[in-house]
Amino acid sequence: MKILVTGGAGYIGSHTIVDLLENGYEVVSADNFHNARPTVFDGIEVITGVRVKNYNVDLADRTATLAMFEKEKFDGAIHFAAYKLVGESVDMPLAYYRNNVNSLVNVMEGLHQQGSSNLVFSSSCSVYGNADELPVTEATPRKQAESPYALTKQVGEDMIVDFCKTTPEFKAVLLRYFNPAGAHHSGKIGEDPSNPATSLVPVITQTAAGKRPMMKVFGTDYDTRDGSCVRDYIHVEDLAHAHTLAIRYLLDGKASDNPALFNLGIGEGLTVLEAINAFEKVSGVKLNYELGPPRAGDVIAVYADRSKATRELGWEPTRGVEEIMDSAWKWQQTLA
Ligand code: UDP
Repeated sequence: MKILVTGGAGYIGSHTIVDLLENGYEVVSADNFHNARPTVFDGIEVITGVRVKNYNVDLADRTATLAMFEKEKFDGAIHFAAYKLVGESVDMPLAYYRNNVNSLVNVMEGLHQQGSSNLVFSSSCSVYGNADELPVTEATPRKQAESPYALTKQVGEDMIVDFCKTTPEFKAVLLRYFNPAGAHHSGKIGEDPSNPATSLVPVITQTAAGKRPMMKVFGTDYDTRDGSCVRDYIHVEDLAHAHTLAIRYLLDGKASDNPALFNLGIGEGLTVLEAINAFEKVSGVKLNYELGPPRAGDVIAVYADRSKATRELGWEPTRGVEEIMDSAWKWQQTLA
């Protein structure tokens, strides 16, 4: 079975490629290295022994994307490729709409035109906005998106819902990620954006490594245990494996709804200050941080009820915050 992984050089994409290869799938990547580096394919090769073919294509470009689908026939696709920074999306909304919406349209069109029908879409817990109930289940109503990034994920989900309605032979799974973090246990791949990191765990490890003089905790007066935001951090290897299970679920024709929707989080909320404490404990490094004002676009608190993914996909995350911080710190120390 040949699977297209868009954004295959990215953080979750690269870990998913490893998991797919280890489970017997053939993989082709499409990545234009907008926020990733080609060297990630070296790391994947060291871990798996496989040199993955990559199409350097801008998926928002319809002609280029459809040309790729002319060259290769896929049994399914996992669509990671997207701009993903909440703060940046607040500053550059049109760039986010243009890229994230067009690339999804083009990938769906390309897959469908070649008669393939299995799509796994990277959605996000940000579609819940500031939810009224926690933990959120897949049935928790989506609230107004807090950022253009979150809106592109809501719109992406809706586009897939609409397409599945008119084209029932097209099958899809929507995966709502909570906060992916950590790195592959081999130390060969991890989060290595070419743009400055803005996600909490890489900011923590870069600060600890002296790459940043200090870091800020964004917001300390929220209505949470200690005033900082609550998130559900999920180890990237556990998250990657959920994609293999999702593509298998589609290929086996097991989907209960179309599209089928799953939350992928560990099911526990951690505040920013608790995450910092966990890092300090695991690494033995004292972090230089300051308490600062809130960041635009941030949701206050969100964590998952993941029971549907466990029940229907057989997904059981096995790693906690210690493994997240430990693997992220090991990975940081391999970076120049
Ligand atoms: N955060 C922080 N300082 C940083 C980066 C992030 O306090 O330098 C906080 C951020 O405000 C949010 C949490 O850490 O509450 C997770 O942020 P991240 O960007 O990793 O993920 P998000 O949930 O925003 O997608």
